[in-house]
Amino acid sequence: MSTTRLKAFAGVGIIAVFAAVGLSLRVGGTVTAAPSSESQPDDPRGAADVRGGATPPAGGFVPAYLALHESGELAERARQLWAMMESCNLCPRSCGVNRLAGAQGFCRAPGTQLVVASVQPHFGEERPLVGRSGSGTIFFSHCNLRCVFCQNYQISILGRGNRTSIDELANAMLQLQAFGSHNINVVTPTHYTPHIVAAIDVAAARGLRIPIVWNTSGWERVEVLRLLDGIVDIYLPDMKFASSAEAEQFARSPGYPEQTKRAVLEMHRQVGVARPDSEGIVNRGLMIRHLVMPDSASGSKEVLDWIAANLPPDTYVNIMEQYTPHHEAFSIPRIARRVTTAEYQQIVDHAQQLGLTNLDSRTARWLRE
Ligand code: SF4
Repeated sequence: MSTTRLKAFAGVGIIAVFAAVGLSLRVGGTVTAAPSSESQPDDPRGAADVRGGATPPAGGFVPAYLALHESGELAERARQLWAMMESCNLCPRSCGVNRLAGAQGFCRAPGTQLVVASVQPHFGEERPLVGRSGSGTIFFSHCNLRCVFCQNYQISILGRGNRTSIDELANAMLQLQAFGSHNINVVTPTHYTPHIVAAIDVAAARGLRIPIVWNTSGWERVEVLRLLDGIVDIYLPDMKFASSAEAEQFARSPGYPEQTKRAVLEMHRQVGVARPDSEGIVNRGLMIRHLVMPDSASGSKEVLDWIAANLPPDTYVNIMEQYTPHHEAFSIPRIARRVTTAEYQQIVDHAQQLGLTNLDSRTARWLRE
């Protein structure tokens, strides 16, 4: 990317581009309000106003969703997912509330309304997603977990963001592609799965051709993931906890470990191992994240044991060391501190001893010769 282009994007240009589609911006760590968006259509079939103009990526990559869009299956999947909100079971919480009638479940998503916190090319994600031009992130408001250490709790719990139509979401995807983002990275997408699939269908008609990254807590229902088969190119799930007790204490999701294991196996079945192209960019595959927490609170060794025993040894794993107490974590002495170098090194050593060969490049810095 040229310096001139980046400067233009980081300045007035970015505000004009994303304000035009009615979304909020996160620039320099703060959320900047943009004009409020149109009201949300009640049904994804209401999205229209097809426009072209986006630039497909080079290299002959064909995204998984294109064939489903052309056959009409993508629109059908969106309809099926939308119907699930009548007694909402989009995620393992299975609240059973009628979101079509405006009810809110545990995640606090306001009925069928879509709320977006920010849209931006992101350069802090995994290197195979960022490349030279960034990962095109779209952060969604609200969340079906309650992580006591959440660093985005204003968005995930307080729901900060702007109500956004499916049409606007599709346009945001196209703007990210036009900028040169390597992918569309939907962050905390689960409770808006129907909206995202509907928007991909609209955007595909207008020229979207870059891969979709499903950037999820990992806590997904396999039945819903099956409806994403052939739509998502890259799954980027967390595996946050090894133990149910800690998942309950730190994220109010006691069944998290077993549910997430089933979900990750399904993700791997769909997209396989993440392999970079000649430019080092991943366009398809499974990329797992695990955050090391103080005092083994996230069960890192057990999580890695499971990955090594159930997935190929070259499965991409990002062992993250950046845990920092946020939100309510300061009042829980066990996790009210950062991870020490020794704690982190132990986990990386363990991964290496297990024979995991595809550790994220930032993790690899810690590997001993
Ligand atoms: S998506 Fe929200 S409302 Fe639906 S089951 Fe999950 S937490 Fe409940």
